[in-house]
Amino acid sequence: MNHLEILRHYGIRAQKSLGQNFLVNDEILETIANSIEITGRNILEIGPGYGALTEKILKKKPKSLTLVELDKNMVRILRARIEEWDIIIPKETVFTIVEGDVLKYTPWKNLSQNLEDSKKWWNLSWKSSIWASRTEDSTTSEETEIWTQSSHFRESSYSVIANIPYYITSPILFRFLHELENKPEEMVILMQKEVGDKILRKKGYNNSYLSLALEFSCGSIEEICLVEKGNFIPAPKIDSSVLYFQKNPEYDTRKAKLFLSVTSAGFIAPRKKLLSNLANTLHIPKERLHMSFEQLWLLETARAEELWIEKWKELIENLENT
Ligand code: SAM
Repeated sequence: MNHLEILRHYGIRAQKSLGQNFLVNDEILETIANSIEITGRNILEIGPGYGALTEKILKKKPKSLTLVELDKNMVRILRARIEEWDIIIPKETVFTIVEGDVLKYTPWKNLSQNLEDSKKWWNLSWKSSIWASRTEDSTTSEETEIWTQSSHFRESSYSVIANIPYYITSPILFRFLHELENKPEEMVILMQKEVGDKILRKKGYNNSYLSLALEFSCGSIEEICLVEKGNFIPAPKIDSSVLYFQKNPEYDTRKAKLFLSVTSAGFIAPRKKLLSNLANTLHIPKERLHMSFEQLWLLETARAEELWIEKWKELIENLENT
């Protein structure tokens, strides 16, 4: 079935409140699926909808594919498509659908932690359906499902792929690239073009809290492609872009927390001077800041957006050590 036929066949009506704009251009879906290593890897797809991108991912035979989808109706449609053989799961792929909010979802680190997390997770009344594969028996016991789900995440490395709802782009990026202890190796995310431009500092955007925070947490960030609004049903008001994020293997949680707290304080009132923002928010005496600014050849009139990441790091080190 093509996209229009699927939408019609399952009577799908996009829910605006869940950011449902379905990408219906197969060439772009292929480009997204080709932009990270999938074959033989653990993949997490956020917001699969009716499974347009899911199908492209499955064709590349991941070791496991976990889908996290908030909309019950979409989960029901995904299950129906699988049962009707409209979506084919390769027998080597461990396939899981998690019904719930991705912002509350934690990919597991190790088995004991997994079981703890899974129990909490069930208490929160999440639902999960597992097809270990079409050829193996599917189970109904809750405990077995938890174990099955956990066991293939014992090896913790995974990557994320998603056409996510615009309204939670930043929370998703912060969650996966900063907050989670177990961060993805790679992420490819379709987002609002304006947010992509802001992250990459294109089209006249200067440094921002978002661009600096992501630069800090990633080894590299690249633009994969632009996606015009006409490629979606329903068409959003704005164009999109697809960005690729690679994990920074040297990510240091203590340094990251410090970096985020100082930069967020610096941007608290972006039009005001950086020095005043830091003094007022972090309660650092102004004389102390004047001294650091002088040592680092920073103008006292500088604004947060004018400092590149290296200068922020120098400033933080200076404030920490003197
Ligand atoms: N991936 C599909 C595609 O490319 O056509 C659908 C993309 S649509 C922009 C976003 C999807 O994310 C929807 O299916 C929506 O229900 C789901 N979603 C919205 N909020 C979510 C959340 N907090 N956690 C998980 N999924 C969410």
